[in-house]
Amino acid sequence: MADKKMEKIGTCAFCGQTRTIETIGDVELTQAELDAMATERCTCVPAQEEKRKKARKKKINDFVNKKFPSPKLAGEIFMVIDTVEDNTFEEVTLKLYPDKNVRVWKDSDSNLHIKIKRIEDDELKA
Ligand SMILES: [Zn+2]
Repeated sequence: MADKKMEKIGTCAFCGQTRTIETIGDVELTQAELDAMATERCTCVPAQEEKRKKARKKKINDFVNKKFPSPKLAGEIFMVIDTVEDNTFEEVTLKLYPDKNVRVWKDSDSNLHIKIKRIEDDELKA
């Protein structure tokens, strides 16, 4: 038995262009979900811009979650990132452990940088 195909209409949130969304099987999508999908697939400038923003956010999230597996610590880092993103601070340096610094800043092209620096001193006291 073939899955039934349904065609629904979604509207781009930015330009109002409608788009046919094909669903297969018993997938029930709300109008909001259809509109979100239409927006995601739209080629208008604001929709593309939104897509880039989301991809950037995902990139930042993935990096932080990977580098800081502790949810509490990751949460704190996200807060720091927000303060740099909204220009509250130009640059933030955190001393995490005695041998680990995290530096967050934005460059002149508004790209966010997160740099984790490990300071490894080999010291012996005997
Ligand atoms: Zn659009």
